[in-house]
Amino acid sequence: MRREMEAIEMAFRRKTVVTTTLLRSIEKYSQELREKDGDYVYKIMDFCGTHEWTIVHFGLRSLLEKIGARNVELIAGPGCPVCVTPSYYIEQSIKLALEGVVVYTYGDVFKVPALRPVKGARSLAEAKALGGDVRIVHSFLHAVIDARRHNKDSLFVGIGFETVAPGYSEAILKGLVPNNLKLMSLVKLTPPAMFYTLEVVREKPTDYPISGVIAPGHVSTIVGGKAWRPVAEQFQIPVVVAGFEPNDVLMAIAEILRQRARGEYKVVIEYTRAVTWEGDLKAQSSIRTVFETVDSAWRGIGYIPKSGLALREEFRKYDAFAYFGIPDLTPETWRYDLPANCRCAEVNLGKAKPTDCPLFMKACTPDRPIGPCMVSVEGTCAIWARFGGGGLAEEIAKAIGVF
Ligand code: SF4
Repeated sequence: MRREMEAIEMAFRRKTVVTTTLLRSIEKYSQELREKDGDYVYKIMDFCGTHEWTIVHFGLRSLLEKIGARNVELIAGPGCPVCVTPSYYIEQSIKLALEGVVVYTYGDVFKVPALRPVKGARSLAEAKALGGDVRIVHSFLHAVIDARRHNKDSLFVGIGFETVAPGYSEAILKGLVPNNLKLMSLVKLTPPAMFYTLEVVREKPTDYPISGVIAPGHVSTIVGGKAWRPVAEQFQIPVVVAGFEPNDVLMAIAEILRQRARGEYKVVIEYTRAVTWEGDLKAQSSIRTVFETVDSAWRGIGYIPKSGLALREEFRKYDAFAYFGIPDLTPETWRYDLPANCRCAEVNLGKAKPTDCPLFMKACTPDRPIGPCMVSVEGTCAIWARFGGGGLAEEIAKAIGVF
């Protein structure tokens, strides 16, 4: 991973022609827009935590400032599944772990703090420390392989966006999942969340609305560019599906500004090396066969219509809710579930920055997270905590040699 990062950084520095061309293009459109709209601020939302990682790590916000694009603001969105999974499901998983169920989870879910401790444990990590059998895996398939080796009741905490869903559905359809392994489907869908976020941000009358969206590249490999067309059309804003290298993000920003300057609003796929307009039709069909779309609770935020996936009745035998007798949340039973003073919900909706939170890097740090946004590598608070505001901007600006 470290080597890959070094390679990307070197490529970013070496491809100075591409980078400087993109920055000049951003500068040009930003100037055009300023001449047209004065002090109007063009807010661009990067939906995905991995885009936020790229922006912060490479100091892209600082690079924009350096070229004088002060009318362009990059805003992080709700694209971190670990950050938006309600505490209730973490608590139920902790409970099962402490009752002797083998719990499989991704590494970042392991450390997410629940709102309410369960038998003294506030996270799956603490449940493990208290004797629970919690196992970290990289994928559902790893859990399937491991669960087949024993006959113990097992739970997979199925957090994720559309990207992980085909891994669950294909394992089920191919009959790979053993009877002792149950899936707690907590899959969330990104376009409905984008709709919701845009509505919420627009509701704040004193602020600027979102002027464009950088849509998640990996999710779009499954759902395709077409999934973002309703967002572009309803809100009349450009949407660019982008890859995750710094030049991808710069290209997305340049394209959004170009469209704004020309009065256009359409979906453009920048990440053409992985994403098509239709997406992965086989994966879409597999997901539709196994899952149905349901209203879903987002941590600290509430219910977003049609934003989650639940197992269909035909696949009930794999369903952790049914097997372990866990009542699922409903709009009536869901309660606001962030710790006092944690502003994670606003951070996820682009209404606050991590530094607006009174706990940021004081009581809440990556080593001792209080809110869920401080845990995952895709969590905005965790990203800002690790790389600070400037990222590599100074160093990269010098390497590029244009400032
Ligand atoms: S710094 Fe911690 S407490 Fe504050 S919003 Fe972020 S996760 Fe929540």
